[in-house]
Amino acid sequence: MKSVLNVLDKAALELVLEKLKDFEKPVEDLEQYRTPGDLASQILWDAYIRGDIPGKIIVDLGCGTGVLTYGSLLIGADNAVCLDIDWEALKVAGENLKEFRGMFDLVAGDAGRPPLRPRNEDCVVVMNSPFGVKKRGADIMFLKAALKLCSRVYSIHKYTPRGLQVIARTAEEKGYSAMVISAEFMKLKPRYSHHRKRVHRFKVALIRFTRN
Ligand code: SAH
Repeated sequence: MKSVLNVLDKAALELVLEKLKDFEKPVEDLEQYRTPGDLASQILWDAYIRGDIPGKIIVDLGCGTGVLTYGSLLIGADNAVCLDIDWEALKVAGENLKEFRGMFDLVAGDAGRPPLRPRNEDCVVVMNSPFGVKKRGADIMFLKAALKLCSRVYSIHKYTPRGLQVIARTAEEKGYSAMVISAEFMKLKPRYSHHRKRVHRFKVALIRFTRN
């Protein structure tokens, strides 16, 4: 198994994550795209320096290829739950995560009603859920579920002023404070037949939620 000592910094983490397997046949309705290495390493690094990775139980809702689960385990998480609604995605995650055998559970389920018991201080959600483009409100459904599970949540969202308002309101209602870690561009290569641009680029917010 790899140890945290092999990963020297955020840039090295990005390179490792970028090499993981991608979805084989991404399902458009499930908004399947692998979290790019730069964003994955950035959100994980922020969680790491705040003490929210080492020794913690990580819950990755909509874990897809397992990029965020992989990165968390690599930088010292105790164990992780990688949950997705799609078996094919979980198969890819299982392949990506094989060197961490015994440290993670692959769970097939709906993130809206995760078959998990809420925990508190020892558990941290790290997720990049659908943005709610195909299924409106999917991002907020994931967020609400995450806020029920753990006292800390790290999450990537599409950046729009209206979207950020809804996120802030949801956090407040659930007794959390939300802090934008940074605003970035997500760059995705074309994945579906109707994608015309060479790289699709849009703004996202990396957000940390802390229970008050
Ligand atoms: N974080 C992952 C995947 C991001 S794409 C990665 O970096 O690889 C969003 C993921 O959410 C997809 O894998 C999709 O299958 C999953 N998903 C979509 N709707 C879901 C639902 N209701 N419950 C659980 N997973 C869902």
